[in-house]
Amino acid sequence: MTAKIEKSDDTWRDELTPAQFDVLRRSGTERPFAGAYVHTEEDGTYRCAGCNAALFSSETKFDSGTGWPSFTEAAGDGSVDLRQEGLILRRTEVRCATCDGHLGHVFDDGPEDRGGQRYCINSAALKLDPEDAS
Ligand SMILES: [Zn+2]
Repeated sequence: MTAKIEKSDDTWRDELTPAQFDVLRRSGTERPFAGAYVHTEEDGTYRCAGCNAALFSSETKFDSGTGWPSFTEAAGDGSVDLRQEGLILRRTEVRCATCDGHLGHVFDDGPEDRGGQRYCINSAALKLDPEDAS
C-alpha cells in the first residue's frame, strides 16, 4: 500500500501539462474524441499521469463509442477511489487512490458480459506504459 501523495497546486502545475492539470487537479473533462487514448489498442498498463500508479490494463479497455477511453474495471485492488457526487445528477467520480487526481466517472452501462461497468476516463489523466514487445 503506497502512501497518499500530497502536493500543492503550484507543484502540480509545474509537473503537469495544462491539460493534465485541468483534469487531474481541477476535475476537468476533455472534449470527446480529443484525447490521445480514445482509439488506442496497444497492449500495456495505463498509469496515472500524476503519480505513475497503475490504474487500468489495456485488456479491460473497450470501444464505448463515447469518445473517451473506456474500461470495464480498474487494475488491481484499491488503485482507484470511487466517490458519489451530485444529488440530482448522480454520478460516481473515479479518482486515483494514490494522488487523489480526478480521472473520470464510472457508469453502469458497460458491456454486460464483462461486468456491466464503464469507466469513462480522460486521456489526459493517463499515460500508457506499453508492454514489452519481447
Ligand atoms: Zn495518481
